[in-house]
Amino acid sequence: MKKTIATITMIIMLIAMTSGLVYAGTTIQQSDIKEGLTFCELYPVKLALDGKEISFLQKDVPPVIIKERTLIPARALFEAMGGKVTWNNDTQSVHVTYDDTEVVLTIGSDKALVNGQSKELEVPALIIDHDNDYYGSTMIPVRFTAEALGCNVGWEDATRSVVIASPAKPEIPIIDSKDGDNNQNGNTGNDWDTSTTWQYEKLNEAAKGKLVVIDMGHGGKDSGSIGHKNMSDELSEKELNLPIGIKLNEYLKSAGVSTYVLRETDIYYTLLERAQKANDAGATIFISIHNNSSESSAPNGTEILYNSKKNTEGKSEMDLYGIQSKDIAQNVQNEMVKSLGTHNRGIKNSPEMAVLNKTYMPAIIVEGAFLSNESDFEMMKKADYTDKYALAVAKGIIKSLNEAYK
Ligand SMILES: [Zn+2]
Repeated sequence: MKKTIATITMIIMLIAMTSGLVYAGTTIQQSDIKEGLTFCELYPVKLALDGKEISFLQKDVPPVIIKERTLIPARALFEAMGGKVTWNNDTQSVHVTYDDTEVVLTIGSDKALVNGQSKELEVPALIIDHDNDYYGSTMIPVRFTAEALGCNVGWEDATRSVVIASPAKPEIPIIDSKDGDNNQNGNTGNDWDTSTTWQYEKLNEAAKGKLVVIDMGHGGKDSGSIGHKNMSDELSEKELNLPIGIKLNEYLKSAGVSTYVLRETDIYYTLLERAQKANDAGATIFISIHNNSSESSAPNGTEILYNSKKNTEGKSEMDLYGIQSKDIAQNVQNEMVKSLGTHNRGIKNSPEMAVLNKTYMPAIIVEGAFLSNESDFEMMKKADYTDKYALAVAKGIIKSLNEAYK
């Protein structure tokens, strides 16, 4: 009987090897693997974990895209994250463990186990021998596995990189509770966390993992609005927006919010590219950082643009994401005006703005203050403007996340 099963298994394997591997939801042919290998040899795919590129062993197959899913050798990435990767030869399966989560992927199976629960896979784990040296690499779908372990996974087109953010583990310094200065907001409950630099509402468990994309407006060849008093006293929007976004990211990350920053350097993306990147990253909230200007020097203050949008099936932001841009805009606006002391220009439904109508998720544009107004301009030149702006947006986002995900 055992022999019969072995023979049948052999036959199935032989059929699989010659005619392509057929799985429940999907069919992976040898030609798909070959095509993926050839394409990725021409256009290599990189892998970055928390901003650092992951390198692979020489003998390993480099990341390969098969049926629009990226497969990678498991060990390099998940061990760099601090996880454990083991191979079970009897069951032909890869076990990846990180924190309290275990993901089991069996070669050729369209089902994976996440802490014992069965999940569908679009592309299974595969053994690929790219250089016919009979040494196969075990390749596993990176997005599925990393997300199952609590990472955020995005794709950066410019560098052809799978961008992975490991689960946020905020390091909150412990502060002596006798120090009265740390309780300035009068809140005595447990629902605030205190760090040395700022106080924020504690993020709900249910809000963790909701991805916030930060877009710093303009950049590179596009300087945005420019304010000046005279030729030597000039300030452009792009100079302001980049450090504000970077600071905002730091604040959000330290509070445990999952983030993805569209750019960290002075480079230019089109509005469509920005929206596309947020869509590809699977974001829940899109925040675009800007500052304002006008032909006249009179207008001043803070305003936020949002777009109460519906998808093609008539579903609202609330239906699709459980949170809506109007509420986020209002929360951020309240914090901005409080923090900067600027004139409150209110929130405005602005469906005509590209980043608001080309993004799928709730999105807002923050317009901090007017470079074209003299008193706003003086405020924006001060060193603490960046920090006050970033902190206010962070607080508004955390408040919105907590209200939406309880
Ligand atoms: Zn702008």
